[in-house]
Amino acid sequence: MSEAILLEVSDLGRDYDRGRVRALHEVSFSAQRGQTLALTGPSGCGKSTLLSLIGLLDRPDRGRVQVDGIDLAGVRRGADFRARHVGFVFQFHHMVPTMTLQENVEAPMLALGVPLAQRRARAAQLLDSMGLGARAGFLPTHVSGGERQRAAVARALVNRPALLLADEPTGNLDSRAGEQVIELLVGHARSQQALLLVATHNPDIAAAMDRRIELLDGRRV
Ligand code: ADP
Repeated sequence: MSEAILLEVSDLGRDYDRGRVRALHEVSFSAQRGQTLALTGPSGCGKSTLLSLIGLLDRPDRGRVQVDGIDLAGVRRGADFRARHVGFVFQFHHMVPTMTLQENVEAPMLALGVPLAQRRARAAQLLDSMGLGARAGFLPTHVSGGERQRAAVARALVNRPALLLADEPTGNLDSRAGEQVIELLVGHARSQQALLLVATHNPDIAAAMDRRIELLDGRRV
């Protein structure tokens, strides 16, 4: 694997419902650090399935994913791997409703054993940099949808992941809030030499990425 290649997906396949639904058919591609990549295609074409396999939320039936030279088939502790290497942003923010934005953003650092003072400082600095300093002590239900999603991006970035996976991250937002979320994700990919994969229906977002991978019925087109 060349040094700049961060992600190598080889002949990846996933079936559901005991083989009755073939969600992914032997999909292959590789991508480099610092790249931004759109994953496009109609609803049900396999975008979320592909992101789940790459982020180790799910295991494939066929084929292989390598992240930074690590074959995911050999990774036993998925949660540890995700905490170290992967940041996820979903269409729905999935913030813990009883925790403030600050506490939600601090949480992923627990898995890495970051001391409390550093967790506090890093989360506060990240929220500040996203224009959310004044909202840090608020519960997710007490801020706007755009603010909540920016905080979800902060949570995804807080451990400085090399791989950033976003599944329709702007699906629930108005266009200005959506643009801000995409700017934050792309900015992280560029500044941290991370790889950003965004599943999206939005042609403007797809056009803003360096590359596009299009799926149809679980296959690359
Ligand atoms: P997309 O993200 O492009 O909308 P998905 O990856 O969610 O597509 O779905 C791909 C296919 O797999 C669809 O036919 C969907 O209905 C099916 N599918 C997804 N998840 C499951 C599941 N947990 N059980 C059964 N079928 C599923």
